[in-house]
Formats: sequence, C-alpha cells, structure tokens
Amino acid sequence: MRRYDLIVIGGGSGGVRAARVAATQGAKVLLAEESRVGGTCVIRGCVPKKLMVLASRVGMEMQDGRGFGWTFDAARFSWPDLKSNVDAELDRLEHAYATALSRAGVHTEASRAELLGGGCVKLCSTGERISGERILVATGATPINDDDLIGRSLCATSDDFFNWTTQPRRVVVQGAGYIALELACLLARLGSEVSVVFRADHILRGFDQELREHLQAELAAAGIRLVPRATLTAIQRDGQGLSATLSDASVITTDAIIRAIGRRPNTRGLGLARAGVTTDDRDAIVVDDDFQTSARGIYAVGDVTNRIQLTPMAIREGHVFAETVYAGRARSALPSIVPTAVFTTPELATVGQTEAEAVAWHEHVDVYSTQFRPMKATLSGRAGKCFMKLIVKRADDRILGAHLVGPDAGEMIQLLGVAITMGARKGDLDATLAVHPTGAEEWVTMRTPTRRHGRSEAA
Ligand code: FAD
Ligand code: NDP
Repeated sequence: MRRYDLIVIGGGSGGVRAARVAATQGAKVLLAEESRVGGTCVIRGCVPKKLMVLASRVGMEMQDGRGFGWTFDAARFSWPDLKSNVDAELDRLEHAYATALSRAGVHTEASRAELLGGGCVKLCSTGERISGERILVATGATPINDDDLIGRSLCATSDDFFNWTTQPRRVVVQGAGYIALELACLLARLGSEVSVVFRADHILRGFDQELREHLQAELAAAGIRLVPRATLTAIQRDGQGLSATLSDASVITTDAIIRAIGRRPNTRGLGLARAGVTTDDRDAIVVDDDFQTSARGIYAVGDVTNRIQLTPMAIREGHVFAETVYAGRARSALPSIVPTAVFTTPELATVGQTEAEAVAWHEHVDVYSTQFRPMKATLSGRAGKCFMKLIVKRADDRILGAHLVGPDAGEMIQLLGVAITMGARKGDLDATLAVHPTGAEEWVTMRTPTRRHGRSEAA
C-alpha cells in the first residue's frame, strides 16, 4: 500500500494551498481531485464570474463614452466568444495550479477519493487503497437544488450557468445572496431580461440594512425586476419556454431559471461516518481551532466546514493547517475581520460590524455616511449614487465597520480592511490627506456624524 505523510482530498483553494505548503516543508503529499484542479473559485466561481462581470461592464462603458465625445458604431456582444475566451483562461489557470503542485513535489491523482477509516483512503478511479499519517478533507461545497420544488431539474445552478453556450433572453434567478445577485446583474448588463425572486423583503441578508436598501434600489433602477417576499413553487416547460409559478400564484415565463439558494458542504458519500468524522445538521464537518475533526489524524478546511465560504478564508485555513503541522510554527489566529465584496454593478463591499451589530455590542456608536453622484456621471448622465458609511465606537474612536455601494467598492474595501485590521480610528482617517478628485477621498472627509447612538457623549 502506498503511504503518505498527508493525503489531501479536494484540489480547490484550501486543498491546493495546504498540499503545497506541506510538500514544501518536506512532507510526502498526495492530492486527489475528482474534477479540475483549482476547484470552485478557479473553475466555476470567482474567476469566471469576475471575468463575466468585467465583460458586462464594457457595454456600459461604451454607453457612458457618448458623454465623453466617443461614438461606437455597430457594437455587438457575442456570448460564445466571451465563453471561449473565459474557458481558455480557466485552462491556463488550471495548468498553472497543476504545475505549481508538481513543482512543490505534490503527487496529484485525478480521482475521487473516499475515507475508509484507519488512516486509509480509496481512490475511486482505480479502487486503490492508500494510507496517510494525516488526511485533510477540503472537498468544498455544492449548489443546493435537491429540495421538493416541482420541476427543479429544469433549473440551472451556478455550475450549469458557467457551461451555457448561449445567452438566454429571459432569466429568472431565485435567491438574493452573493451568487444570485452577481449572476442576475451580469446577465442584465449583457442584455437579458432578469427577474430576481427572493423570500425576504430585502436582498443580502446579514449585510448592513442601509446598504441592502441602497443596492436594491440601484438594481431596480438598472432594470432588474425584483420580486421580494416570493418563492418558486413549480417549474414547467411549455411552448413559450419555462413557466415559473411563484408562491403568490403569479407566473413568469422565461428561457432559463437559476437557483442560487446557498451551497451545501460536499460530504455525501465521503465515508465520514465510517471514519468517525462528525458532521452537523447542515452536513458540514465539525472541526476545532486546529482544523482537527472528531477522528484522530483527519482534518478539514474551507467550505466543507461551512463557516465563512470565501476563497481567501479557505486559502488561509489550508495555509495555517500546513504551516502549523509541517513547519512546526505556533498556530496563527484566523482573521476575525473579513472584508468582502459582492460583484454586482454597482459593487457592494463591506468590512467589520454593521450598524445594527455595532449598536447591539456597544453603547455609544457614531455613524458617518454620505451619498454622492460619481464624477463620471456628470458627463455620462448615468443615474445612481455612491453610498459610503463608517461605524465608529465613540468610547475610543475605533472604526468598527465600513460599508459602501459604488464603483470599485471591492478595491476600496481591501485597503480599508488593512486599516481596520490594524485598529484604525476615525481620527486616523481625519488625519489622512485626501486624494482629489477621487470617490475614495470621501472616506477621509466625512466630519459630522449622520447619527449618534447612545445616551451620553462620554462613553
Ligand atoms: P473548493 O474550491 O470547492 O474545492 C473543493 C474541491 O474538491 C473541488 O475541486 C471538488 O471537485 C473536489 N472534490 C469534492 N469532493 C471530492 C472527493 N470526494 N474526491 C476528490 N475531490 C473532491 N469567494 C470569494 O472569496 N470571492 C468570490 O468572488 C467568489 N465568487 C464565487 C462565485 C461562485 C459562483 C461560487 C460558487 C463561489 C464563489 N466564491 C467566491 C466562494 C469560493 O469559490 C469558495 O469559498 C472556495 O472555492 C472554497 O474553497 P475550498 O477549497 O473549500 O473548496
Ligand atoms: P447565500 O447564502 O449568499 O445566499 C443564499 C440566498 O438564498 C439567500 O438570499 C437566501 O435567502 C436564499 N435562500 C436560502 N434558502 C432558500 C430557500 N429554501 N428558498 C428560497 N430562498 C432561499 O448563498 P449563495 O448561494 O449566493 O453563495 C454561497 C456562498 O458563496 C456565499 O455565502 C459566499 O460566502 C460565497 N460567494 C462569495 C462571493 C463573493 O465573495 N463575491 C460570490 C459568490 C459566492 P434569505 O436571505 O432569506 O435567507
């Protein structure tokens, strides 16, 4: 039987990083990947999504160009051309990941792997059993579409979306989280008629309420039909295309339906019970602070643990795991402050506490906010406003959260994330000289609180 120091199951963001770091430290590592190396982020997530978002903004740029003296004759968009260029880039990235693994000395098997217990793993492609001193489960998550919705097999998930060879003229999207809104927006900006059906009053549960309301209004103004307080109850194919019946008995006729109602950890059929690995009621592997599962020698990182389902977190977890175990370093803490962006157009980005969270945690909280028309809109004539908001703890002037909707929101929040992680105070922003004329200068020029929460001034 082949023996390894570490067997990694899953070649996505977390698994690839852990395997590379462990191998670089001299461990004998095998990584098993059942689909394509790179995982969700590279093959069917962040990367193709962002490339398509960028594609969807080119048409807007051309429209905006008119106000700046440009004309574009006979502009046309070709979905097949975009798809083939995106696919070529994904092939390149997959190859780069595979090469990096091989250069680090990781042995990669193109196979599904399952746990057998007793430190053994089965490679399903050949049936071979291999043994590992340690096993890391980094199998990620998968879109949920197995509930009791009638006709759900007629619906696509985000995985299917990235394989579409043509662009549907009409699309219904169910859900109002990251994936639903990003795909809805890019399709709408590329010319599809998009309806978003979601069960809550507002999109993006868990984000700052004002931010949710602002983006919701912007998306509606961009021509996306928002259908709140509704779910899908049945899907049928008929002569007109697909009929989506909603919980209020209304029907939308469409060419495609995307369901983006969350992702479930990939733990089914993995042999976890056999190996003594405990999962929770959402199928996620339960781990402690050292990524150790309930079974000795078996660890898990990334989306399969269903904590923060973001690529940088999966990478960080894989890195910390491998560095702690194979480089003998003290375990570094995972970041508690998580900057994140939703790549709608306009973008939404956020870091730290929402206003509601801050008020629940701290007695005295100041809120600074501003709305303004981006300079570019003065000539392009495009409607819509940027919205920015800072949450400050009055007692020590610490910035608890920053939230925005507007162009380059993701780029801005990355840098605000550095400042807030370092413990920046509102006074630090006040002391920073503005870069003029930019949108980002608003972060350092907001002087008067919009609202003050708390009874007294001296907290
Ligand atoms: P994954 O990357 O999912 O990797 C798991 C791998 O394990 C997969 O390759 C799978 O094929 C393989 N596997 C599963 N079971 C087995 C098995 N039994 N044997 C062998 N191999 C197996 N995050 C961001 O931070 N920014 C974004 O912009 C962003 N956009 C996203 C857009 C979409 C449409 C989606 C779906 C996700 C997006 N994410 C984004 C989330 C991000 O992709 C995930 O958080 C990240 O990929 C998780 O990494 P992971 O290593 O845990 O799992
Ligand atoms: P999210 O958790 O972001 O959103 C799920 C959406 O589905 C919510 O609107 C939720 O509604 C709705 N929903 C859940 N269950 C049901 C149901 N039974 N019926 C109707 N609606 C339902 O999940 P996503 O699938 O969009 O994305 C998964 C994760 O991937 C994200 O949480 C994020 O971590 C990651 N991701 C990150 C991206 C980025 O960084 N830019 C981009 C894409 C994904 P409700 O609000 O009412 O609960």
